[in-house]
Amino acid sequence: MNECEFLIIGAGITGLTIARALVLRGRKNIIVVEKEEKTGIHASGKNSGVLHAGIYYTPDSLKARFCVEGNRMLSEYCRSRKLNLNRCGKVIVATDKDKLSSLYKLQEMAVKNGVNSRIINSGELKDIEPYAYTYKEAIFSPDTSVFNPKEILDSIYNELIDSGHVKILFNTGFVNPSSDNTVLTSSGHIKYGRLINASGAFSDKIAHSFGTAENYKILPFLGTYSRIREENSGFVRGNVYPVPDDRTPFLGVHFTRAHDGTVYIGPTAIPAIGRESYDFVSNISLESLTILYRDCVMFLSNTAFRENAVSEARKYLSSFLYDEAKKMIPSLEKDQVIHSNKVGIRPQLVDWPKKELVMDFFVIEKGNTLHILNAVSPAFSSSMAFAKYVADEYLC
Ligand SMILES: Cc1cc2nc3c(=O)[nH]c(=O)nc-3n(C[C@H](O)[C@H](O)[C@H](O)COP(=O)(O)OP(=O)(O)OC[C@H]3O[C@@H](n4cnc5c(N)ncnc54)[C@H](O)[C@@H]3O)c2cc1C
Repeated sequence: MNECEFLIIGAGITGLTIARALVLRGRKNIIVVEKEEKTGIHASGKNSGVLHAGIYYTPDSLKARFCVEGNRMLSEYCRSRKLNLNRCGKVIVATDKDKLSSLYKLQEMAVKNGVNSRIINSGELKDIEPYAYTYKEAIFSPDTSVFNPKEILDSIYNELIDSGHVKILFNTGFVNPSSDNTVLTSSGHIKYGRLINASGAFSDKIAHSFGTAENYKILPFLGTYSRIREENSGFVRGNVYPVPDDRTPFLGVHFTRAHDGTVYIGPTAIPAIGRESYDFVSNISLESLTILYRDCVMFLSNTAFRENAVSEARKYLSSFLYDEAKKMIPSLEKDQVIHSNKVGIRPQLVDWPKKELVMDFFVIEKGNTLHILNAVSPAFSSSMAFAKYVADEYLC
């Protein structure tokens, strides 16, 4: 039987950065189990690759705290390891007059969070993003960058292996808790001192199996993308975002020039029918019925959820997505936008008795087990600061 001091479930960015934080604090004998054959198969490898600056999040939330610090830490990590980081900045535009007051509120929040951002007029916007439209004013965030998620995951993976203190067991899925600080995995039993559940889309289920967080359930949201044809990609230099609906944790359909130069439009946030159903037909299980039922209950009991579900589902149709996109880049023609295979799933936590989406990251401890719930966007940007907090507050 394998034995370790720390057992981490999930080799996404959350699990890997927590393992790294432990190694940096001199901890040894760490095992990470990952059910897939490599890292980055799910959210950590299927995201927009935007290093957020921390504008959107309620001051004092974990998201605000760790996104601002995480931006600095991940930027420094990329710089020191010579990893791809495009410091292209980002603009948030008001697509009509009504959005202007929300834009100002967003900037107030950014200031409270200690983010380096400022209000610019439409003339200044033209210098940064010549094709973007805003009603009078916009926000400019110079510290928003674009990274290559897989490159960062690989770099941290290699660092952990080189340390000699971390074993990463791929194709090894957590099955259930066994007796006496031991879990059963698909590769046999593992005994642990502390267990950290960083399993993303399955984190609620695994927490429930340890008898905790029973009121919290994950609902998966499908994030689909379109892209601008390569020959027209000059419409966007960096990141062009709308003012989001602050009743949901989603940022609205936006333009991002990825690390390889592709300009993506998206992601949507459409209720999905499986934790790993990257389209509407694969990975459907009995659980899909439960997810569908929960979506219906949320649809009926939560207005913001209902409005979001309807407007996001419409964006699955390219004409609606194009209409949203054209509000930000008016010169964009319909035939310049094409389908992209890029797709991701956001496992969003719901406080089930309240029927509310949980807006912040959420950590819950039970005995010697620790459960990281709701590590949704901007969890990649925040990962190093979040991992430092988890290690210092709970593990070391
Ligand atoms: C479409 C989309 C766009 C996004 N854009 C951004 C962005 O621009 N910037 C940003 O900062 N964030 C973004 N995010 C959010 C970010 O990608 C995630 O918050 C982050 O990657 C979560 O990392 P994680 O390690 O917690 O989860 P994951 O990457 O999902 O990793 C969890 C791992 O646990 C494994 N696992 C699950 N169950 C088990 C089990 N039983 N046994 C063993 N292993 C298990 C899974 O296989 C998986 O590899 C985006 C997310 C999506 C979906």
